[in-house]
Amino acid sequence: MTNNKQTVTHGIFDMGDKNDAYAKYFVGQSYLNNLIKDPAISVSVGNVTFEPGCRNNWHIHHDGFQLLLVTGGAGWYQESGHSVRKLHAGDVVVTYDGVKHWHGATKDSWFSHIAITAGTPEWLEPVSEAQYNALED
Ligand code: MN
Repeated sequence: MTNNKQTVTHGIFDMGDKNDAYAKYFVGQSYLNNLIKDPAISVSVGNVTFEPGCRNNWHIHHDGFQLLLVTGGAGWYQESGHSVRKLHAGDVVVTYDGVKHWHGATKDSWFSHIAITAGTPEWLEPVSEAQYNALED
């Protein structure tokens, strides 16, 4: 079984520090490197890294969107009311304005994506342990 730690933590973009600013919206440990955070630019670009088992809460990007460019490891993406999607390096996800969703690592693998985000996030409830644990890595 591969947990992809080496490839994820030594990717093209530095993984940054522990993501303390958003920790309350995550289960498990994530890391954030803000690549572009410029008040003159209407999108932010960040490298987000998830330890195995780490995922963010359900959330919505209001008045904007989010584009995820998967750079390493294995993870999950799900929109409310839809089946979960397995992600690997090279996958691309588009989340439209107002869509409730979550993203994160699989139970056994590190995971990283570049997140290009516009608008204002609304953070909601965690993905339940029962739902997450039922996912088939
Ligand atoms: Mn999102």
